[in-house]
Amino acid sequence: MQRPTFNTSPKRVTFISRHLNYLQRLLAVLLLYANALISSASQANQAEPTITVSIKPLALIAKAITGDDANIQVLLPDTANPHHYQLKPSQISLLNDTDLFFWIGPPMESFLPKVLKATSAKHFAVLTLINGDDNDPDSELHTTESNSHISDHEHLHKEDIHLWLQPEFAIEIAHIMTTKLSQWSPARAETYDSNLRRFTAEVIAQDQINMHALEPLTQYKLITAHNLLDGFAKHYGLQIQDIISMTPEQKPGVKHLHELEQSALTSDRLCIISERNQPSRYADILVQNSGSKSTRIDPLASQVSVSTGGYIQFSKMLVDDLLHCLR
Ligand SMILES: [Zn+2]
Repeated sequence: MQRPTFNTSPKRVTFISRHLNYLQRLLAVLLLYANALISSASQANQAEPTITVSIKPLALIAKAITGDDANIQVLLPDTANPHHYQLKPSQISLLNDTDLFFWIGPPMESFLPKVLKATSAKHFAVLTLINGDDNDPDSELHTTESNSHISDHEHLHKEDIHLWLQPEFAIEIAHIMTTKLSQWSPARAETYDSNLRRFTAEVIAQDQINMHALEPLTQYKLITAHNLLDGFAKHYGLQIQDIISMTPEQKPGVKHLHELEQSALTSDRLCIISERNQPSRYADILVQNSGSKSTRIDPLASQVSVSTGGYIQFSKMLVDDLLHCLR
């Protein structure tokens, strides 16, 4: 009785132990997979989101909301014209590595809809802050040179798309970012929310300071190089007398230049506002010929680094640059 047991037992033991080893290994492998799945699921919530924004001012708002709890990338260089831009392959590749992408919308970054359609990026949430004419983003604001004079006047009262310059829209953008970021990373929602409350309070306080500081400038008539201060001016009670051209790339017509020069020569309190990184030859000529006061502003925040207080610093600098008109 013992022999068969003795004879078969080692084989069976070997057979069972082999199978047991196999089962153990299988179980171990399955457990590894299960652990990997669990940890990748929790990593999705725990990893810092990577945010890409189209322009620097949006990075300043995003930074105020996220603090150090996000990686922020800016698509466009500060010196670029954000209305018309040709992205380099290295810049397009930023979009492939991003969790959330924020931009203003087709009337502002008119080159983006095509890029966004063509990108193969996954995990990619496009947030369009304002809606333009999606079918033809060029139709509204970027008219051809030949009829630029007519369009200057036709479009003088068109909506200002440079939303980040106005405090109420900066707060609105921050709200939208907070909502999207909190959906992506619920674990950080509380932090983002308290940062939003702090940012809102800071913007409102700075707005009051700006309102007071800009008071003397309400007595001036302003000519801007392109249509970027309309909303800002309405908010602070400033008067935009005229605009040289609707967008930086447009050339003003001869008749319009003549009108601009006439109003510059006949108004004693007038200031010509151009942009630090989009030099306007027409603005320079106008200043030269009329002897009017002038200043340069930095609407894309090229002089400000991306920090939690960056937006407020940007807001102060914008007001300081405008107050150069008084000197
Ligand atoms: Zn612009």
